[in-house]
Amino acid sequence: MIPKKNTNTKRVDNRKDNTDAAPGRCPVSGKCGACQMIDMPYRKQLGKKHARLQELLEPYCRVESFVGMERPEHYRCKVHAVFTHDRKGNPLSGVYREGSHEVVPVEKCLLEDEKADAIIASIRGMLRSFKIKTYDEDNGFGLLRHVLIRIGKYSKEIMVVLVTVSPVFPSKNNFVKALLKEHPEITTIVLNVNDKQTSMILGDKEKPLYGPGFIYDMCCGMKFKISPKSFYQVNPVQTEVLYRTALDMAELSGDEIALDCYSGVGTIGLIASSRVKEVISVEHNKDAVKDAILNAKINEVKNITFYQNDATVFMQQMADSGDKVDVVFMDPPRAGATPEFIHSVEVLSPEKVIYISCSPDSLARDLGLFKKSGYIVKRAVPVDMFPFTRGIETVCLLSNRKPDARVKIDVDLEDYYRIKDEQKKNKASE
Ligand code: SAH
Repeated sequence: MIPKKNTNTKRVDNRKDNTDAAPGRCPVSGKCGACQMIDMPYRKQLGKKHARLQELLEPYCRVESFVGMERPEHYRCKVHAVFTHDRKGNPLSGVYREGSHEVVPVEKCLLEDEKADAIIASIRGMLRSFKIKTYDEDNGFGLLRHVLIRIGKYSKEIMVVLVTVSPVFPSKNNFVKALLKEHPEITTIVLNVNDKQTSMILGDKEKPLYGPGFIYDMCCGMKFKISPKSFYQVNPVQTEVLYRTALDMAELSGDEIALDCYSGVGTIGLIASSRVKEVISVEHNKDAVKDAILNAKINEVKNITFYQNDATVFMQQMADSGDKVDVVFMDPPRAGATPEFIHSVEVLSPEKVIYISCSPDSLARDLGLFKKSGYIVKRAVPVDMFPFTRGIETVCLLSNRKPDARVKIDVDLEDYYRIKDEQKKNKASE
C-alpha cells in the first residue's frame, strides 16, 4: 500500500486559462504545456526550429531543409492518460501539467491518435458503472492510475494497458468484454501493476487480460514487436523518413561492418542489415534487447548480433580489442553520447558516423568532440518527429576522410578567378 501523503493539494487544475493559447485549436494548451508551438502555422514552426538548430550547429555545417509532415496532426501512436477524479469523485483523465503532478483534464488532443483518445474516453465513461475508482495520489485510495495505448499504425493492432495500484481488478472479464464491445479493433489488453510512489508510469508486474500482451507494427518493410515497456518511436510516419534518411546518408555498399549503438528494439540495425555484411548492436535495456532478438527472428535476419551493455563500455571494449568497423549508427537518448564513447569511435575509425539526435544541444556538444577526433560534419538533416512541440530530431553524417577533391577545386577556382581579375586589371591599365 502506498503511504498516505501528508498534503491536501488539489491535483486537478481548474484555474481559468489566462494564457494566449489560440481559442478553439486546443482548449488546454496553455495548461498542459506539451505543445509549445501550437499557435504557430506549421511552416513557421519548422522555420523556428531550423533557425535554432542552425544557430547551434553553425560551427560545424549548414543545416539542410526540415523534412516536415504533410498532415502534422494526430501523429502520436503512443498515448498516455493519467486517471484521477474531481472533488465530487467524477473520473477525469488527462496529462500532468509540465513539470508538476497536477492533472490537466484532456478530452481530445491535436497530437494524439484519435482512436486512442476515443478508447480513453470510453474507459473513463465505464468506470462508474463498474465501480472502479481512480487512484488518489494524496490519500492512496482508488485503483486505476494510468491508461497507456499503443497503436500499430500499419498493422492496425491496438494495445491497451490498464495501470492499477493493485492486481485485483473487480469484474475484469466483464470490463474487458464491455471495452471490446465498444472498440472491437483492440487486439490486446494488459493489466500492469504499479504500487510504487514514482514518476514512472508502468510497474514491474503485468499480465495480459486479453490477447497476447503486445502488438506488432511495420516499419520500412519490417515487422517489430511492441510490448508495453519497449521503446518505440511515437511518430510512425516520420520514423520511416528518419530511418531512410539515415540509411541513404550512409551510402552502404553491402560490404560494411556496421555498429548500431543505442539500438532499442533493434530497428535501425535490422533495417540496415540487408545493405551491409554484418551488424553489431548495443543497447543497455534488457527488455529491449530481448525484443530485438525476437525481431531479428521474425524478420529472418541472420547477420546481426545484439549485445546488452552500456554503449560506452561496449565501445571501449571494442576499441581495446583492436576491432575496426566501417560505419557507426548512433541514436543516443537526450543526454547524448559520452566523451569516452566518442574517443572509442575515433579508435575504431569508421569512415562514416551517422548520428541521430533528439537533442540539438547534446548534438552540438558532441559534434565539437567529434571534430577534435578528426570527424567533420558532411550533412545535417532535421526530420520533424514532434510537430507542434519544440522537439528537434536531426540526422548527421560525419566523416573522418581528409577534405576531398571538391575542396581542392574550390581553392583552384579561387586562384583561377584571382588570376583572371588580375589579368583584367592589367589589361585595363595597359
Ligand atoms: N535506435 C532506437 C532507440 C533510440 S532511443 C530506435 O530508433 O528506436 C535511445 C535508446 O538508448 C533507448 O533504447 C535506451 O534504452 C538506450 N540507452 C540509453 N542509455 C544507454 C546507454 N548508456 N547504453 C546503451 N543504451 C542506452
